[in-house]
Amino acid sequence: MRYREAQQDPWAVGWTIRAMVLIAFLAAFTVPMGIVPIIPGVRGEAGPVEPPEGPIRISLSTPVPTPTEPPVAPIPTATPSTPLIGIVAGHYGHDSGAVCPDGLQEVEITVDVARRVVALLHQKGWEADLLEEFDMRLHGYQAAALVSIHADSCNVPGKTGFKVAGAEASYAHHSTDALVECLSYHYGQRTGLRFDADTITYDMTRYHTFYEIDRSTPAVIIEAGFMLEDRELLTKRSDVVARGITEGIICFVEGNW
Ligand SMILES: [Zn+2]
Repeated sequence: MRYREAQQDPWAVGWTIRAMVLIAFLAAFTVPMGIVPIIPGVRGEAGPVEPPEGPIRISLSTPVPTPTEPPVAPIPTATPSTPLIGIVAGHYGHDSGAVCPDGLQEVEITVDVARRVVALLHQKGWEADLLEEFDMRLHGYQAAALVSIHADSCNVPGKTGFKVAGAEASYAHHSTDALVECLSYHYGQRTGLRFDADTITYDMTRYHTFYEIDRSTPAVIIEAGFMLEDRELLTKRSDVVARGITEGIICFVEGNW
């Protein structure tokens, strides 16, 4: 009898089959009509996005808006313009400038230094023109600053130092004094040469270039040293000379005088 009790009651089996047929019959009509939803097989695949478990991470780069404050318009930032600097290599393309008894020419020094200054300004990301003494581009030239590089002659034994000058005050752009100050300070600091105000001549203040360029361009001439006593600096350490001039220009353009 134990064996018979374990077998299924034939009546129960019949009702189970009937119930399954009924469920299948109902599902065939209700599922396509959307009455009974199809449950997605993978949790979350088609359902609503659930918040991630664990602590909520707020990205530092994403500002969290505070709903109590009114929306703030972004602060307009001016596009930084790239300064243009004109660098004249004294005598370049015209003549030799001063010549020492041993043949050293001023123009050799000015071209070497001017090229280095232009390269340093380019390194900074600024624009810079290397200009000849009587460059056609100088007529009406417009730039943030113009510096003409020269060196003093060999025929003043015992004389050392540099000097910087702009056009005469009645003609020069109003910010020329600031350019003179920046250049004098930084060139002296970098090279260790002292400013030699005694030998500023009309050749400097009435320098032809000042009267060719646009009057809105602050312009100066620098006599970077004497070719006799300061020769070692001018020829062997022209990178220092160029750095001093460049630092003076940057001081002026960035307004740190
Ligand atoms: Zn010269």
